[in-house]
Amino acid sequence: MDKKDVSALLKEIALFLEIQEEEPFRANTYMRAARSLDNSEEDLDTLIQENLLQTLPGIGDNLEKKIKEIYDTGTIPLYEELKERVPAGLLEILKIPGLGVKKVKTLYRELGITNLGELAYACEENRLLELPGFGARSQKKILEGIETLLHYQKSFLLLTAREVLDRVREDLLSYQRVEKCVATGSVRRWCEIVHDLDILVSGIDADELIPLLIEMETIVETEKVNERLVIGKTPEGIPIDFHIADPEGWGSWLVATTGNSGHLELIQENGGTNPPLLELRDSGVPEPLFPEEKDFYHHFSLPYIPPEMREGQKELSFLQSNSSPQLVEAKDMRGIFHIHTTYSDGAVTLKKVVKDCYQLGWEFIGISDHSQSAFYANGLEKKDLERQASEIARLRRSYGDKIHIFHGVESDILPDGSLDYPDSILEELDLDFIIASIHSHFQMSTEDMTRRLIRALKHPRVTMLGHPTGRLLLAREAYSLDLEEIIRVAAEYGVILEINANPYRLDLNWEWADFAYEQGALLAINPDAHRLDALEHLEYGLAVARKAGLPPQALINTFSPEDIKKLFAPGKINP
Ligand SMILES: [Zn+2]
Ligand SMILES: [Zn+2]
Repeated sequence: MDKKDVSALLKEIALFLEIQEEEPFRANTYMRAARSLDNSEEDLDTLIQENLLQTLPGIGDNLEKKIKEIYDTGTIPLYEELKERVPAGLLEILKIPGLGVKKVKTLYRELGITNLGELAYACEENRLLELPGFGARSQKKILEGIETLLHYQKSFLLLTAREVLDRVREDLLSYQRVEKCVATGSVRRWCEIVHDLDILVSGIDADELIPLLIEMETIVETEKVNERLVIGKTPEGIPIDFHIADPEGWGSWLVATTGNSGHLELIQENGGTNPPLLELRDSGVPEPLFPEEKDFYHHFSLPYIPPEMREGQKELSFLQSNSSPQLVEAKDMRGIFHIHTTYSDGAVTLKKVVKDCYQLGWEFIGISDHSQSAFYANGLEKKDLERQASEIARLRRSYGDKIHIFHGVESDILPDGSLDYPDSILEELDLDFIIASIHSHFQMSTEDMTRRLIRALKHPRVTMLGHPTGRLLLAREAYSLDLEEIIRVAAEYGVILEINANPYRLDLNWEWADFAYEQGALLAINPDAHRLDALEHLEYGLAVARKAGLPPQALINTFSPEDIKKLFAPGKINP
């Protein structure tokens, strides 16, 4: 072990001790020793061989012995004991520049954060703004730090992948030779997690492309596989395939490089493409060549399948019945629910949210801040909800029919399945809608968690179920629950199921969104916005709905404000 390794291990010990808070003084001792090692100009071999360890500040007999033991054996018993007791994910968090032991401890103790994914999500939700020792600036820096760290892993959020792809595309398109250049593969299918990137290029051949890629800062490694394929890597470590197309065959190439293998097999089985597309994707030419994708499908007497659905699953029935799916589109969307404001943990005032949403052309919006037990998110007490109600009444008067504001709340579902406010208060407040969500006590048996959710769904005031499974992509698994049963009950009681559009959640996912619609439930694409730019995340929710094959009428976002009022009227929901 070298000096850096030993120092890292000492810092871990300090973190563990600090978090346990049994012996803060002891934690400081280890931290100081680690820093002394970092600051020393000698390497560890020299420090040990020349007996210099005790000349460093904070290192006495005891620590000298421990450092030597770590140097020789790679560990000490104290470290092994502590490791058993403290969540391992905290160590990952400690790697973020600017986050020392004290801050990691605050994150763990105050917000219950145990790994990078949870921390990223907390930053997205502005949870760090009010936390002692943190603020807007450090929250932004932490997010950047997380991004860098996550890049070393092999899975990437679609959000990240799209940002990286945009930069690569911009670089490529700055060369005159490059005619066209678009994302294909899993990114074009809007897969929530991607492992590699695909780009389709025309106007240039493989040998001409390579020097351009070498010149670009957005690509670090390149290699020609054949005349049709050049592979590379982004500085973040994401593998990227450059497929080279002929302009006259652009559509055929798009088909060959967008669908997953399941989809290409379905095309082959149902359309009789010959030779098989799958074999052609990385080397041959997907004949016949058409400039437009639609013409390729039509040539084989197949209906056009939108890219999102090319997963080899839900498109089968459309291929067999020779009908194109009529999917919900961005232009169908008339309004959105689940928006947080500065009343709880949102970053934008109610007034500004309404103004911006009006300017963006929404016909209605649903404001829903956190409920009282969400103390970490500054949840609203009854008097806050009343104050918010009067502000909304004022805003309604000044906006008239230009935008309808629905007033709701995102109420925590307590461990026993009851809501966060007593029924008497809910009656008195008479909110337009209630999104019931789980934000704590995730560890429950499947039976208990299912019972908890079902009790909430049956509450006569509950309108929607927020982020139904609680998963955080690349960070937290869904809680254990019987989702089939929950969706059935939601459909039966007229509770709308959320497709949370936050790219860290995408919950329900597309497989379940489809099931929910089949069961007769309505769905809502909700931004769960804590900042205004989060409204841009709607496209991720829309992609979930499209992957699920949902038509406009499956989503309340496409309803008129009048129809929503009817839907929310007492007695309509929860028959
Ligand atoms: Zn929530
Ligand atoms: Zn929310």
